[in-house]
Amino acid sequence: MSGPAKQQTEDTSVTPVGYGYCAWHSGYSRGVRLVQLADEGSGHGSRGHFACTSCRQAYDLVPLADQPL
Ligand SMILES: [Zn+2]
Repeated sequence: MSGPAKQQTEDTSVTPVGYGYCAWHSGYSRGVRLVQLADEGSGHGSRGHFACTSCRQAYDLVPLADQPL
């Protein structure tokens, strides 16, 4: 009594959430997301940095994937 092995396709979220470096508190954290900096012209190539969840809430940052285009 053994059915056919069902192949399960992992339907994970397309949102890249993982462990990474948060540029706001200068440390590694879980759940970092790529955030687009609003201010341009600082000349430091700050086109995009990763921010963790708490820093996004603290600084009101919106991840790139959540920004309306
Ligand atoms: Zn952070």
